[in-house]
Amino acid sequence: MNIEEIEGIHTQSSLSMDDSALELVASFYTQLYERQLADDKPLHIRELDDAKRKLLAIPLDYFSLHGTTQQNNPYQIISVDIDGNFSTFSPELLGQNDEAYEKFILGNVHQTGFRSAIDGALFKKWYGEIQLGIHNCEEKCPYFSFCGGGVPANKYYENASFESTQTIQCKYSIQTPLEIIMSRLEEAFQ
Ligand code: SF4
Repeated sequence: MNIEEIEGIHTQSSLSMDDSALELVASFYTQLYERQLADDKPLHIRELDDAKRKLLAIPLDYFSLHGTTQQNNPYQIISVDIDGNFSTFSPELLGQNDEAYEKFILGNVHQTGFRSAIDGALFKKWYGEIQLGIHNCEEKCPYFSFCGGGVPANKYYENASFESTQTIQCKYSIQTPLEIIMSRLEEAFQ
């Protein structure tokens, strides 16, 4: 389940960067985390489990060395629609009505190879912008070591640019869960 996001035709969200909205979401995650800790067979909650895994298992310099995530690294995900059109990066982008990025369709499996698609102008422009977004995240965001530069679809639909950095999605799905787990760890080691 994803937390509500601005994407494609869903152009508005009831969530925002307002302090009151942030507090509500933080309180929701905190209660979920309390329930997880109290339960013998806890539910898997992706955002909290990811935050724990990143804090406890991934070296701090992992993303600085490797630089990318599944969604901002080409062909880690390949999305194919019912007509054979294919795309990569964030799966939600495939087929979205967007002239500038040709509906985010890199080719069709009946005519185009995945390898040859990366020689096309659309891939080069798109990949270059995503790379710049990762670079900007690394320069500006203290959470980069745990995140790797975020989700292209959210950057594009929230900020109108793949080169941008912070989104509501990363605030709620990456930063807030990390803060909650970190503060519990700090309490435990005081
Ligand atoms: S948390 Fe957001 S701003 Fe920070 S690196 Fe990730 S996508 Fe970029």
